[in-house]
Amino acid sequence: MKTILKTDLTVRDINEGFVYNEYEGKGLFGWGGKLTIQPEYQRNYIYADGKRDVAVIDSLLKGYPLGLLYFVKVGEDKYEILDGQQRVTSFGRFITDKFAIKDEHGMEQYFDGFAKNLQDKILDSQLTIYICEGEESEIKEWFKTINIVGVPLNNQELLNAIYSGPFVTMAREEFSNSQNANIQKWSAYIKGDVNRQEYLATALNWVSKGNVDSYMSQHRFDTNITELKSYFNSVITWASTVFKDVKSDMRGLEWGRLYEMYHNNSYDPNKVSEILCKLYADPQVQDTKGICEYILGGCKDTKLLNIRVFDDNTKRVVYEKQTQEAKLKDISNCPLCAMGNDNNKNRIWELKEMDADHVTAWSKGGSTDIDNCQMLCQTHNRAKGNK
Ligand SMILES: [Zn+2]
Repeated sequence: MKTILKTDLTVRDINEGFVYNEYEGKGLFGWGGKLTIQPEYQRNYIYADGKRDVAVIDSLLKGYPLGLLYFVKVGEDKYEILDGQQRVTSFGRFITDKFAIKDEHGMEQYFDGFAKNLQDKILDSQLTIYICEGEESEIKEWFKTINIVGVPLNNQELLNAIYSGPFVTMAREEFSNSQNANIQKWSAYIKGDVNRQEYLATALNWVSKGNVDSYMSQHRFDTNITELKSYFNSVITWASTVFKDVKSDMRGLEWGRLYEMYHNNSYDPNKVSEILCKLYADPQVQDTKGICEYILGGCKDTKLLNIRVFDDNTKRVVYEKQTQEAKLKDISNCPLCAMGNDNNKNRIWELKEMDADHVTAWSKGGSTDIDNCQMLCQTHNRAKGNK
């Protein structure tokens, strides 16, 4: 791979012929048409937040460097931005009056209203640009390793770059497009930011059962995303059919895994709803994120709910009471040991050798109150817990 360092280009040069597509949220072209600002594998423009875009302009006004920009030579006098797209789009949008910054009096100022010397200060800022030339694979490998000034690329953004092609383009149109009317519905189940590719990451993770890398490489040149879309829709439809209620905890659950494990079982959505509401209202359930899976699994694995445990004070009081009574009767202070016939039948265990147990299990309606607490030796407690 060949790289050339260029320091003679200015903001004015790169901004020549700047085109920004408001609808797609993309900076498109610059440098008199020679530069593609947003190749298809690049992330969407995410600096339009009144902070990061303003910071770019502040830097230019103060004469600070914008950091290295990386361009790839893709043809005779044709280039793509490999790194620096957010910064270039920021100054391009500012110079074309797409946003304003506040002056020292707190007044909003557009570029158009700037004094000529300040306009020139921005336009004449010199840029430091590495232009690289090489095989696509080398450049993509390198792209994976360079660290981005500002917001680092997340894993899915990197994968989009590495496996760019018709499949990624179509997948992004569906899953990374904030204009897609389905996003609202999907957001009940999926966490993250559409623009940062997190919905796409989830969809790929589900369909590939976690092998996103190999799935993307296998499908890279597909000209449809039928499987990806239909699998995703199956999972969402299944989740929203089984669970009529939408709880905030449902966002970000591993719906793909749950679908694989449970979608062949039948559930009565009304019954599910009844159990779900009861569990959400139960103060002993400490992990509400586990409720859906607990129900899907037939209400057996209480570990998923992290049921409240007895506090130290309760344990001490129950221990003292059990131990005093046991000593009077010359039996073990573990009621299960006391029933046995081995050496432990009159053994007095220390507090630290015992664990608290629900006499009536939580799943059978037992509460986490002192009246429902007994101390058992650790062996017996474990044996009981495993039943
Ligand atoms: Zn025991």
